Amino acid sequence: MDDVGFIDTYGRIRKVEENMNKNIIKIYHQFPGVIQNLGINIYELNEWRIRRSAKFRDNLRFLRKTETWGDKDFLEYQNKHLKNIVAYAYKYVPYYHELYKKNNIDITKIQTIDDLEKLPMVQKEDIIKYKNSIRSVQSEPFITRHTSGTTGEPLEIRISSNLDILQKCNAYRRDIWAGYKDDWIGRFVGDTPIKNCRDKNLFRKSYILKRFIFPSYCLSLKTMPSIIRTLERQNIKFLQSYPSTAYLLAKFLERSDNYLPMKAILYSSEPMYEFQRELIEKRFKTRVFGFYGQMEGVVSALECEEGEYHTSMIDGILEITNKSGERVPKGEKGFTISTSLHNYAMPLIRYALNDYTGYKDKSCDCGRKLPLLYPVETKKNDFIITPFGKIISPSLVTRTLKYALSGQSIIESQIVQKSFDSIIIKIVPTEKYSDIDEKLLLKSFLELVGDGVSIKIEHVEKIHQSKAYKKRFVINEIGGDYIEKAFGSLE
Ligand SMILES: [Zn+2]
Repeated sequence: MDDVGFIDTYGRIRKVEENMNKNIIKIYHQFPGVIQNLGINIYELNEWRIRRSAKFRDNLRFLRKTETWGDKDFLEYQNKHLKNIVAYAYKYVPYYHELYKKNNIDITKIQTIDDLEKLPMVQKEDIIKYKNSIRSVQSEPFITRHTSGTTGEPLEIRISSNLDILQKCNAYRRDIWAGYKDDWIGRFVGDTPIKNCRDKNLFRKSYILKRFIFPSYCLSLKTMPSIIRTLERQNIKFLQSYPSTAYLLAKFLERSDNYLPMKAILYSSEPMYEFQRELIEKRFKTRVFGFYGQMEGVVSALECEEGEYHTSMIDGILEITNKSGERVPKGEKGFTISTSLHNYAMPLIRYALNDYTGYKDKSCDCGRKLPLLYPVETKKNDFIITPFGKIISPSLVTRTLKYALSGQSIIESQIVQKSFDSIIIKIVPTEKYSDIDEKLLLKSFLELVGDGVSIKIEHVEKIHQSKAYKKRFVINEIGGDYIEKAFGSLE
């Protein structure tokens, strides 16, 4: 959701090849900041147009109306759209046609969300394997997204244009809940068009969407003072970032016992740990508002002012099951199986997302009727810290990998930091993995971590399963409070 990209500093080669924008980006980087700003503003015009479109406004109005709906309204809505998408998938998507025929499923019997259990689940591996047949044969307008998933398995997803707008509305609705009204935002991203972290002005400015865009990957003890100064001087009252980035800024404020009052901190892409939330809310003297979504765009949840996560209910159906795939009752946690109600370009029906959460058995004091979820646990990941105090969040590591490798060259991966100056990238390669991939991977990582770190790529048969229910993508073995250690070693 937050990754509507501009230029990805790390993986630009691969991404650029894909987008055939190579020359534009090369030229872009040769210009001074002022011209780059202009470029960003032109680029963001499209997003601006979408936000001002009638479709966007109608969607937003509709979503806000559903906040007063009761269980019956949601059920009616979901049943109706479920029937439609299942019938469509059977008719126009070869993968589902085969799957349901093979399993002797009479799709006319799929009438309500309770019937969903009759349908087989779809795994991430299926989407990778049946990439070409899981798409609609109809010409549905769509956009394409690439996701690396939590353990680095790349995946290509088509999203119907209508769903794309609905998702944007959903994310924007969270901003409204947080009190946002067309204010300027300090936005920390992994794909900001700043090539060099020693750039005097560590931000670019989008007038069109009122954003100061900062590079998450340039955060270090050296750069944080100037970033904080910019936020202060420009009177920025909303921050949008990964939890890990906001936490680092808060940690920095804590070291000098400073505060930087904000109206809200908007976050997504990673879970917010309690220790992060506490420090962030204290140092920024405000509340945090999370957004849960996936690149696959199946379901979403928005955090309200009561600190509760509300599911959207309109974009998709969220089932919570135990390990054997049986639904668990309200109040219990389990794994997520999601069905997109609007992705006609690539229907995802009973897609095993396997995030971990559950429906709460209570209503929210904010008055909104949308069902409540426990905070979604996606992945437990660590930071990478370089000898020069650069702190790299797992999201940035994911991005780097995602853009360095083509969709089919690895099965999975894991990044292990052994010490401040040593990182091991474990990969399970496919037969398509080549020397070029290896070089590109190494090059992208070197660019990410900077000087003074040795990087080794290890080919393994599988990624070792940790005790946690999910594999960890980034593991830091430095131990203890390694961020504190990194700060300490620089003093
Ligand atoms: Zn609420």
